[in-house]
Amino acid sequence: MTFDTIIVNSHVVLPNGIVDKNIIIDEGKILGLTNDIPQCDTKINANGLVALPGVIDPHVHYGVYSPIEQAALTESKVAAMGGITTMMRMLRLSGSYKKNLDPHLSASAKSHYVDYSIHASILHEEQIDEMDFCTKKGITSFKLYMNLGDEVGHVYMDMQPGENSIHEEKVEINTKIVEKVITKASKLGCTVLVHAEDYQMCSCGMHEARSKNKDGLAAWSESRSVESEVKSITTASQIAKKTGCKLYFVHIGSQAAMDSISKEKKNGTKIFVETCPHYLTLSYESQQGFLAKVMPPIRSSKDKDRIWNAVEDGKIDSIGTDHVANRLNLKLGGSTVWDALAGFPGMGTMLPILLSEGVNKGKITLHQLANLTSTNTAKIFEMYPKKGIIQKGSDADIVLVDLKQEKKVSSELLDGFSDYSVYEGWMMKGWPVKTLVRGSIVSEDLKVIQKPGYGKFVSRPTSS
Ligand SMILES: [Zn+2]
Repeated sequence: MTFDTIIVNSHVVLPNGIVDKNIIIDEGKILGLTNDIPQCDTKINANGLVALPGVIDPHVHYGVYSPIEQAALTESKVAAMGGITTMMRMLRLSGSYKKNLDPHLSASAKSHYVDYSIHASILHEEQIDEMDFCTKKGITSFKLYMNLGDEVGHVYMDMQPGENSIHEEKVEINTKIVEKVITKASKLGCTVLVHAEDYQMCSCGMHEARSKNKDGLAAWSESRSVESEVKSITTASQIAKKTGCKLYFVHIGSQAAMDSISKEKKNGTKIFVETCPHYLTLSYESQQGFLAKVMPPIRSSKDKDRIWNAVEDGKIDSIGTDHVANRLNLKLGGSTVWDALAGFPGMGTMLPILLSEGVNKGKITLHQLANLTSTNTAKIFEMYPKKGIIQKGSDADIVLVDLKQEKKVSSELLDGFSDYSVYEGWMMKGWPVKTLVRGSIVSEDLKVIQKPGYGKFVSRPTSS
């Protein structure tokens, strides 16, 4: 009997420890871990490498600044290079899901190198009635932007496939809509992802800062205060507690937000917490210029240290990139922080950062890394144990990393739509060297070798 592939001599990260075994792969699945070497068509020598469950990035924006048929090509390529085997799109769909979702699904099916799934943003009241429809399409998590409303109530939507111009839309999110979405999601057995910033407080803060001619990332952080995050966290949590809905707070990067979430969890609200690599590495004190402008803002170096502590203590469940596939000419369109575009790319650097700053500096173990970047994420978003673990029967989504490899970050190395990285020139120790999706090598030494369209849509069930 011959199997498809065997990975030999790696240190395999399992939920209960690290073992030195060979991984047998057949028909895209993990067949088992062994000490011997059975007959296989392909043998991957992973001597000295660590085998991690493929990274799942729960938070990716693509399809906003280029249409999805192009964005999926460029961004899933970066994902594969960065060790990401499943990327979850934050779809911001204009109009009706019933009318407009299918073109996205078919355009996506032809273009991804890695597997992908979708969170559906609810931006208009009429879309609440289409949440059932989304679950039937395998989309079982919904995103709420609590920062959109009032006079700043506009957002860049995803382009419809075939379009190629930036699509701005007026959006009004109020507490009534928040309540309706959370209530409906709870009935459907779906998780709600929450962007927790209070639009009124942010709007006031920004007006005030601009009227005083303040500028720079510190002013940006001050204008969108941590108190605004706390206010939104409290509002959403109270509604979720009443309905029993599971909440997932995206991009948490301040101590105040963490404290507020701890309080709500003690009250009995079911909450998961995500942070992003930039809240673990950047502060407004350390960053020059406006490249690192993002919502919520990067905070003080003290906050940065506190978020690391929360990661180390297991208070953070998952790490996502909040990757935005934009370009410098759009990003730095004006001369002040207020003119700059928020968001930057992050998929290519997530794993190197966590290996370099986390594992290699002794902050987290490989086991914690696997939980934060794969296992927990798969469990929260109903993909486990198909994804998120190296074990018999699971998809053979594996990233082989070299903990000793040192390389400088450059945007050219991470060949996506974006022409910059906020980490340009950073020396990282620890890089992915092979990314396998369902048993097939998609990327090797930061070169993609699979065909586009190999990546499959991961349809997810509800939790009820
Ligand atoms: Zn985001």
